[in-house]
Amino acid sequence: MKNPEEKIYGCLIGGAVGDALGAPVEFKPFDSIITRYGAQGITRYDAQTGGKITDDTQMTLFTAEGLVNAHKYFPKECKLSDKILSVYKSYLCWLITQGYEPDGITEEDKEMNKLLKVKGLYSRRAPGETCLKSLMSGKIGWTHLPLNRSKGCGGVMRAAPAGFVNWFNDEFNFKLGMDIAAITHGHPSGYLPAGVLACIIRNILDGKNLMDSINRSLELLKTKKEYDVTFLSIHTALAAYNSGDKLNWRVIEELGEGWTAEEALAIAIYCSLNAQNNFEKGVVMAVNHGGDSDSTGAITGNILGALLGIDAIPEYYQNGLELIDVIKDYADYFSRLDYNREGGEKRNEEMIL
Ligand SMILES: [Mg+2]
Repeated sequence: MKNPEEKIYGCLIGGAVGDALGAPVEFKPFDSIITRYGAQGITRYDAQTGGKITDDTQMTLFTAEGLVNAHKYFPKECKLSDKILSVYKSYLCWLITQGYEPDGITEEDKEMNKLLKVKGLYSRRAPGETCLKSLMSGKIGWTHLPLNRSKGCGGVMRAAPAGFVNWFNDEFNFKLGMDIAAITHGHPSGYLPAGVLACIIRNILDGKNLMDSINRSLELLKTKKEYDVTFLSIHTALAAYNSGDKLNWRVIEELGEGWTAEEALAIAIYCSLNAQNNFEKGVVMAVNHGGDSDSTGAITGNILGALLGIDAIPEYYQNGLELIDVIKDYADYFSRLDYNREGGEKRNEEMIL
């Protein structure tokens, strides 16, 4: 069985691979993808864009940075809301890399954020409107005090690192994922899928198989308010998988286009279940459809990368992947957490980022 370290590397790098593979075909109908790339669709990085990541991976890194800072600077006893604030401030730093000057961020906050020193992040990669608007509002969104009614996939596509922290049990990961998405996305179907994703990742890290991890997450989902839309989407994905029909893009299009969070997660769950032993197969299937290919690719890459570990990600996807060294730094940090210690925290004190 893979150890947590291999899984965390797999999750972060896998997400970036799915993002980079899907980016050139986002918005493109399936027919035009086939015309351009051949019968299998896009299976390798586009020759022109290469392994170029998008806002999905950028924001995932800023989620990771916010959590690292929370871990480093806040005492264990501090409230969950302080940890969310740390991620919020990290997102404000992402906004700076997109060319904005947000309120609510101090020089000290900027100094603390290591990603602001990464030149390659100062690049706009089709950032989501909801993320930009919410972060520019000067306010932070909470599940009990939502900023809007957005259910776009911008909350879930950046939430995977919420599954890495081992401060408490998996209910904590669920809540953390949800709250991180609610910073910008106020509709329950915008933030609940992020809770589900974080919970799936945490359970995979704890050694559960994929179906058990999904079922455990659904169990927690059902305890949340207004869970029905997200639940139905995932349930439809499970039914499609259980029907035994071959993995194909028509089923994916029935699940939706992935622009909304619950659809993006459902597509990722469907593709992951159908490719539990084959990272490439799952990610290729997840990007070749007429919807939000980079986000569905990123989430599928997160799940399959966590499940199968870094070694399952082919070299030709790792080679040329933009910012892979930065991504590895964060994987390294989280992989040093002690996952064998029941619900507790044991941190190496030295800071490695
Ligand atoms: Mg994107």
